[in-house]
Amino acid sequence: MAAKRTIPGKARAPKNEGWPPDEDAKFTVALDGLLTPGRKGDRRPRPYVSPSNAGKCARALGYHAIGLEQEPPDLASEITFALGDALHDTIQGAFANACDDDGTIEIGGVRSELHIEWPIGTPGDGERGEDGEVPPIPQVLTFEHRGDTYEIPVFGYIDVGHHETSVDIKSKGGYGYKLAIGERKAADGPDVMAMVQALIGAMAKGLKFGTIIMGAKDAISKTSAAAKRMPDAQRVVAEWTIALEDWRDFVQDELVRMWKINELARSGTLPARRIPGYAGEVENPGDGTVNGTGRDVAPDGTVLGVFDAWQCAYCGYRDRCIADGPGRVTITPPTTQEGPNP
Ligand code: SF4
Repeated sequence: MAAKRTIPGKARAPKNEGWPPDEDAKFTVALDGLLTPGRKGDRRPRPYVSPSNAGKCARALGYHAIGLEQEPPDLASEITFALGDALHDTIQGAFANACDDDGTIEIGGVRSELHIEWPIGTPGDGERGEDGEVPPIPQVLTFEHRGDTYEIPVFGYIDVGHHETSVDIKSKGGYGYKLAIGERKAADGPDVMAMVQALIGAMAKGLKFGTIIMGAKDAISKTSAAAKRMPDAQRVVAEWTIALEDWRDFVQDELVRMWKINELARSGTLPARRIPGYAGEVENPGDGTVNGTGRDVAPDGTVLGVFDAWQCAYCGYRDRCIADGPGRVTITPPTTQEGPNP
């Protein structure tokens, strides 16, 4: 308890002493146990690609494909997820609530049907991952790509579909949002793979565009926004739209990557621990407090640099990944649609 630092009759301790949190915290410690029941895994193979996995580590995609249950998130992740979910639902719900009785809404001067949580494929009763329930029926995307024909089963949801665009809603922390919209320097824009996710939705539904709506978990102040002549809404929400045709090759590359990994894992080989954007393999997935690391090595063995595999800190498969080790790993492939993992 920090009582010794407080002064009777004063609301706050003197500035030079500070006011650190209680060392014998009770409520926040209890909260840790209350909020970490874990997210359910499917425990069954998933013979399809999930758009929301675009850009993920190959090994993590392999675990997802064989239906490995994820480890429970820690308190920080659980609360961060909950904030993101709340923001997502607030934005999505605003559109849903504003829809007319005929299911249409005017956005950007165009009146069109609005689809919320629009499935790609047919949801089974078990689309949220409940054990023992009916798996979904994916939609098969057929396309020519770099001289080959692919038929790739895809299952997932489009957050919002309207007129010619497939919309994915993402949340960002306050600082990340500022970087994305260019409040500090040239705008970083949204995560490229989030846009790929939206464009996979556009492919599946025959739409022309993908849109990312990004909501901030912390709003930019009115004063700062006014000084930068920023539209008021952009203090907390921004959007980017891309034409599918401009990104088609890139989107199809990612679909093919995800599907090949899916087939590989379900046939009994987990891929190496590779994350798109990094030349090397993750050597150390971290220990839960430290990010993963890997090395980019030139063909002649020269170490070009060490990279920070920050994704490992948020990965629900890390313990299993550490136990399985680096490189490709042979496993007993799952054979049933239900039951325990291999
Ligand atoms: S811990 Fe890291 S390397 Fe392992 S599956 Fe997760 S993201 Fe990939």
